[in-house]
Amino acid sequence: MDSEPKDEREGLPSASGIEQMKLCPGSWNYQKMFPSSGGSDANEGTIRHDLIEQVIRGDITLDSIEDDQQHECTKRALMLLEKVELEAGVSNHSNQWLEKRLWLNQNEDKVYSAKYDLLREYEGGIYLLVDWKTLYGDHTPAPDNIQLLAQALAVYRNSEGMKKMYCSLVEPFPSPSFSLVEYSTERLEQLESLVTTIVSEANKETAEKVVGLKQCKFCNGLAHCADVAGTIQEEAHLGADYRFHPDDTHLGWALEIAVLAEKWASAVKSRAKEELGNGEEVEGWKLRSSGKVKSISDANLCAERIMDTNLLKWEDLLTTTSISISKLVKVWMEKRNESGATLKRKDAVEELEQILEGIITEKPKAEALVRAK
Ligand code: SF4
Repeated sequence: MDSEPKDEREGLPSASGIEQMKLCPGSWNYQKMFPSSGGSDANEGTIRHDLIEQVIRGDITLDSIEDDQQHECTKRALMLLEKVELEAGVSNHSNQWLEKRLWLNQNEDKVYSAKYDLLREYEGGIYLLVDWKTLYGDHTPAPDNIQLLAQALAVYRNSEGMKKMYCSLVEPFPSPSFSLVEYSTERLEQLESLVTTIVSEANKETAEKVVGLKQCKFCNGLAHCADVAGTIQEEAHLGADYRFHPDDTHLGWALEIAVLAEKWASAVKSRAKEELGNGEEVEGWKLRSSGKVKSISDANLCAERIMDTNLLKWEDLLTTTSISISKLVKVWMEKRNESGATLKRKDAVEELEQILEGIITEKPKAEALVRAK
């Protein structure tokens, strides 16, 4: 029996990779050589998408989402969806599809697949396609977003009776916002060759590589790409000439190279560790153990055993721990509801905030450096 997960993209391009192919056609060759295994951020994004989907389907309620960030993300996404419909002038959809993959074909050949997050159909052949961007990040607004356009084309080619399509990029974080674009069917037909040409250029074995922070930082070939290594080296030489003239222009430029070099260094180190871990040789390098980290696997049992010693009091033990507010909210809600209350999550938060007044503190997280739009 084959236990490998089936690749629903069938090893072919997908709409989600089209912007990357546009920025660096050569990156698709690496993508085929080193398909993604999905990092923790991608997994968190998948969880958030699933939660929004489940609430829209009515499988779960918003209040049943325990994690603070996931709850906030879903709440904001639904609020933004209402705003998108209002701005597009649509309401009361007649059909709705979630997380469906479609193919755009040319003649009999599959060109690329597109999996949309949400598609709604309204009276008069009007459609609305929504893409949730559930994690922080720098996203291209809907009117210039080639991924959304590629999805819209796949939907158009697989639908009958479409008159108009709205596409929206919905961003719950950092502050809730959305962008919207309207496509007539004529406009979609005009734009189709733009997307299919990007794919056919990327499919060439000799596809051009174009170095840039935006595309390189997500490229699966980053640790293998001689072009990016060469660019960092060249730019570092140039940087040496600017050393004695550190003005604002050069700081922005240096930051671009610094972030690219950081991503590259991290990718190269991961590659080396993986190869050494697989028993391959990396000249001049080996893996060395960094020791072990101990942790408590059962907090209840730990507390019981420490109390049994009669050496520490509860206060002493609690100074060695930290309390998670979201877990406390969950336990509070469970216990209160077991004894007859009907608290929703926000009620539990309010009750606890009253009880813990003056003890809950809120600190801003460290600011992140991001590109100005
Ligand atoms: S690392 Fe950068 S330049 Fe090299 S293939 Fe990937 S995106 Fe293109």
